[in-house]
Amino acid sequence: MPVTPATPQTIERAAGLLRGGGVVAFPTETVYGLGAHAFDAKAVSRIFEIKRRPSFDPVIVHVADEAMLARVVREISQRARTLIERFWPGPLTLVFKRSDAVPLLVTAGLETVAVRMPSHPVALALLRASGVPLAAPSANAFGGLSPTRADRVAQAFGEQIDLIIDGGATPLGIESTILRLEPIPALLRPGALTVEEIEAAIGPIERNVSDESGPASPGRLPRHYAPRTPLRIVGPENVPLEERSHAGFLGMSRAPGGYAAARLLSPAGDLREAAAGLFEALHELDDLGLERIDAEPPPPRGLGLAIADRLLRASRNRTGYCQ
Ligand code: AMP
Ligand code: MG
Repeated sequence: MPVTPATPQTIERAAGLLRGGGVVAFPTETVYGLGAHAFDAKAVSRIFEIKRRPSFDPVIVHVADEAMLARVVREISQRARTLIERFWPGPLTLVFKRSDAVPLLVTAGLETVAVRMPSHPVALALLRASGVPLAAPSANAFGGLSPTRADRVAQAFGEQIDLIIDGGATPLGIESTILRLEPIPALLRPGALTVEEIEAAIGPIERNVSDESGPASPGRLPRHYAPRTPLRIVGPENVPLEERSHAGFLGMSRAPGGYAAARLLSPAGDLREAAAGLFEALHELDDLGLERIDAEPPPPRGLGLAIADRLLRASRNRTGYCQ
């Protein structure tokens, strides 16, 4: 397995591979990413191939600093500057007009590009050592659970990737928040930065963008971030005892009786801790081969919004309906 601890030597080696068109998995503060040179369409096409990602799903471009951002985007509005100043590096992805250097494969044919500056020291060191922006979606097969640990990446892709940099568990554990700024600020994907924090910086944002926009944000596909085991969102008080024995329970802080297995995201009721452990808990329950996973709805505030979004998408069956 090409999993290697994140030493300075590993980062140099990874940077060389990336400059030469390779594909490298690396930790960010959100989840593990599968990275390639963002200006190298051939390298990026390998990501699509490895992930079995449809070409209509655009990839987020990662930058180390504002000089790198300037190579990726055509212009930076005042509102974008305010957000960059306040939240970068960090788990906020912003949508800009793309520069000509960004291949249309990266943006799935859109004239816009989604960009973020990660705060994870390994991700930043890798971007700096590479000297090029990195197109990097989450390092999981399309539609599946995002990986928060290097061994999950190895399990999913193994030798298909040139190198997997192991930087330990990702601290936030849930993907970045995606914000479109034009014509008005609008939430495209709830994520690790809460809407409340964004609104404190720039005022009210549109929270319910309709899916009029077609390919504008495929992370909004009905079924996404899904385990193989059927999952439903349900309060345990509504599940009769006899329905529990072949099912797993995923909840915040208290485990009801009768389930074959249970994972609690935060005994102290801390949503940050819950978000950080969400995907790993789903991976673990998924590995048990149960008939079903019952997930308790999270509280509807702060990071609860991002957790609820992932659970809802995980709960839809392959036709897009809740199961
Ligand atoms: P991920 O797989 O976590 O890297 O997420 C990528 C997601 O970012 C896509 O599925 C889209 O929802 C979103 N995205 C990427 N580029 C754009 C863009 N130009 N405009 C809107 N959303 C985008
Ligand atoms: Mg993803």
